[in-house]
Amino acid sequence: MNYKVFYRKYRPNNFQSIIGQEYTKNMLKNAIKHEKISHAYIFTGPRGTGKTSTAKIFAKTINCENPIDGEACEKCNSCLNFTTSSDIIEIDAASNNGVDEIRELINNVKIAPTNSKYKIYIIDEVHMMTTSAFNALLLTLEEPPAHVIFIMATTNIESVPITILSRCQRFDFKKMTMEELKKQINYVCKEEKIEISDEACSEIASISEGGMRDALSLLDQLSSSSKTITIEEVLSNYGSISGIFIKNIFKNILDNNIEELMNQFEQLKNSCTDYKIFIKKLIQEVMNYAIELKTNIISSKFSYEQAKKLIFELNDCLNRTNININPYILIELICISYITKKSENSAVSISETKENISENTDIIEKEPILEESTMTENSSEIFNQIDSNDSLLKLKEIRVNNCFVGAKKDLLQELKNMWSDLSTSPIPDEILNLLIDSEIVAVSSTNVIIVSQLESTSLLINRQIDEISDYLCEFFDRELQFIALTIEEWQKEKQKYIENMKQGKKYELIEESPIIIEKSDLEISISEKIAQEVFEHDKIEIV
Ligand SMILES: [Zn+2]
Repeated sequence: MNYKVFYRKYRPNNFQSIIGQEYTKNMLKNAIKHEKISHAYIFTGPRGTGKTSTAKIFAKTINCENPIDGEACEKCNSCLNFTTSSDIIEIDAASNNGVDEIRELINNVKIAPTNSKYKIYIIDEVHMMTTSAFNALLLTLEEPPAHVIFIMATTNIESVPITILSRCQRFDFKKMTMEELKKQINYVCKEEKIEISDEACSEIASISEGGMRDALSLLDQLSSSSKTITIEEVLSNYGSISGIFIKNIFKNILDNNIEELMNQFEQLKNSCTDYKIFIKKLIQEVMNYAIELKTNIISSKFSYEQAKKLIFELNDCLNRTNININPYILIELICISYITKKSENSAVSISETKENISENTDIIEKEPILEESTMTENSSEIFNQIDSNDSLLKLKEIRVNNCFVGAKKDLLQELKNMWSDLSTSPIPDEILNLLIDSEIVAVSSTNVIIVSQLESTSLLINRQIDEISDYLCEFFDRELQFIALTIEEWQKEKQKYIENMKQGKKYELIEESPIIIEKSDLEISISEKIAQEVFEHDKIEIV
């Protein structure tokens, strides 16, 4: 069976059947009606907006022997033989971007059309051509033979040299509107005898964001398993890249709603949605917000600089080829690193369990995104100030202190050696990935300090430190307390320790009360912090 994908099967074959692009259609039809054809055209616009289809229809109509009101007659020799005509030359610059192909093209340009009015070159993705290929093309465009027409298409007009552009008539193709997409989806469904609910149709249109090719590809995939398409089916397959879902992800970052954000990422991790599509959509969402920040005076704690940084980080993620973990874990880490809390009235610790948070969602700060300064190299310091009342901070302080009480180099070496075998342990992947990105830097007989490359990683480890400790105790086969620090925090602690050493101060074991990670503890003022600490020289080794 010769199966044709919907996008090809339902390609328009005359101007009338092109969806949208009214201005372009009228201009091209008028050019034919008034016989005012230029030698070079360039069609630009997002993918899936009909540039190549329009180029072909235009070429067919130009060569039609009896055009009727700007449309091809479909009856003349030229129309009937259009698809096999040697006078219509299609070039995909993405695969033929070399100067040799263009040279060959130029040599043939001089030869008159065999049985048509014009010899028409359709060059798709023209921006992909090399500079020398562009130069070769330019020579022809400067003095085109009377029987030759170029129709170029590109999704990236900025990469086309101005010398080429200045010799072309340019048409900008717009994204399809929701209505236009829905109309075509419904039309295809009717032809293919597919039942689709109005809601499902709207959702497909929304996910495709103005691209007809995407819309019909989604429809194609969904209809391959069932001839009835419901909203539930669309959402379960593609919901995680729907506009609403993406908007909510960013809203949860803005609202500092870590609970909801993590729930959304749980869905993503279990979905088979292409993470690249997801990232591109999230970047677009943040981009819209950044533009809003620049063009309108909107009050936001999420600064333009932060939005820019988030876009760059997501883009880096997009370009990473060595992601061998679930990429959504990486994206989650990036997003979570933009969430933090305000100094005062901060009532919930990040080290609290998920259950505690869900019970106390009313006391989670709703607007506490930090200013840009917190995202700089000094992040952990400011982070510390802001979270100064946090129980996590206390836990960190106690566990770091207790590790320093009896830190030993041979223990460190022993555990470090074992750490390298961590990936062979039965620890769940999601935890393992956090740990593999981290290293152990100090070990005593009771405590271990872990340092993570990213602030977000240390945050995620500490959020589930009890669970992680259980796994690690089993792995190391001994009772230990763990805590994760960022590199900056660790440098600071190390420095403090060295100072204390010089002054002959001694570290003493501090009993860890279970209350430490309870909410009630948060009321304890920072001034009640455990005092410092003398040190026992020969026992301690610092990495
Ligand atoms: Zn014709």
